Amino acid sequence: MQQEGLPGYRAGQLAGWLYARGVEDFGAMTDLGRPLRSALAARFHTRALEIEGVAQAADGTLKGALRAADGALIEAVLIPERRRTTLCVSTQVGCPLACAFCATGAMGLLRNLSTAEIVDQFCRMREALPPGRRITHVVFMGMGEPLLNLRNVLEALRTLLHPRAFALAPRRVTVSTAGVLPRIAELVSQSPVNLAVSLHATRDELRDVLVPLNRRYPIAALLEALRALPGLSRRRPVFFEYTLMDGVNDSPAEARRLAALLRGLPSKVNLIPMNPHPDAPYRPPSPEAAERFLGELTRRGLTVTLRRSRGADIEAACGQLAARGEPRLSAARGGPRPGVAGGPR
Ligand code: SAH
Repeated sequence: MQQEGLPGYRAGQLAGWLYARGVEDFGAMTDLGRPLRSALAARFHTRALEIEGVAQAADGTLKGALRAADGALIEAVLIPERRRTTLCVSTQVGCPLACAFCATGAMGLLRNLSTAEIVDQFCRMREALPPGRRITHVVFMGMGEPLLNLRNVLEALRTLLHPRAFALAPRRVTVSTAGVLPRIAELVSQSPVNLAVSLHATRDELRDVLVPLNRRYPIAALLEALRALPGLSRRRPVFFEYTLMDGVNDSPAEARRLAALLRGLPSKVNLIPMNPHPDAPYRPPSPEAAERFLGELTRRGLTVTLRRSRGADIEAACGQLAARGEPRLSAARGGPRPGVAGGPR
């Protein structure tokens, strides 16, 4: 607004309309004054993404395929639960990290998302929610590596947390990284949101294969950097994601090693059964192996959750986002049909 020669408080008014109230028509922003409204409408547009289609899983998870102005296709996922509704956002089109078990990694990186494209996932996806539901939590766990697009991610975080915009509490927002070590301290110092780290292995030989970034930032260095972070406590732990893969990293010995590695570090461990997809040879663990792994960790005093997989039947689960433009999504163009909500606007 200042660049436009307008008083800065106008930005707060605009944010209130666009983000808090979801009003995108400048003409309807009644406290802005008619000349300003038409000047804004002539100079700016309010949408960075359009919904290409929304697929609904049997468990209620909604996966949106979103089209950017240059044609790039990304995905965002809404996970309604009893008491919360979580939005999972993407930060890049594709991803350069090529984790061996992740469908997004198999795409390579096309480009970073802009701040507007990250924030717009919130605006577009909330329109797909049933009436009376609102987004309560946001996780940066969609396509891409947030810390390789940190500048735009930080700006998007400011908008998500800002009281005049989306006003989310910092504890309800989580940024996940595969371990881009030199950027972690910057994220934590610049934003009060939760940090999650994708660990998946306890030995470098294995993590080198699963998360190739480990060759640059091995486990010991990563954990040392995390221990050095200021302000960690039981109330502000580091979240660790650990995707369990059958016969690869799901043994009790591995669980014991994990507990030893995390000793003394305020942490919470999220176990995710591998979500299979055609680009990876890995399979989910047996339910017994998953339970045993969980047991080994809890017995050693760790706080652990075993994440129930959501939306796997529409490839909306962790590591299944590849924006392949499934037939299901393109079929939505013809109009709504069973199992498909929304459609083109
Ligand atoms: N690049 C960031 C953000 C992605 S978060 C990161 O790596 O943290 C997505 C999470 O799902 C990561 O923990 C990722 O390792 C995990 N994941 C990827 N593929 C998966 C799969 N097929 N099944 C289960 N989890 C997977």
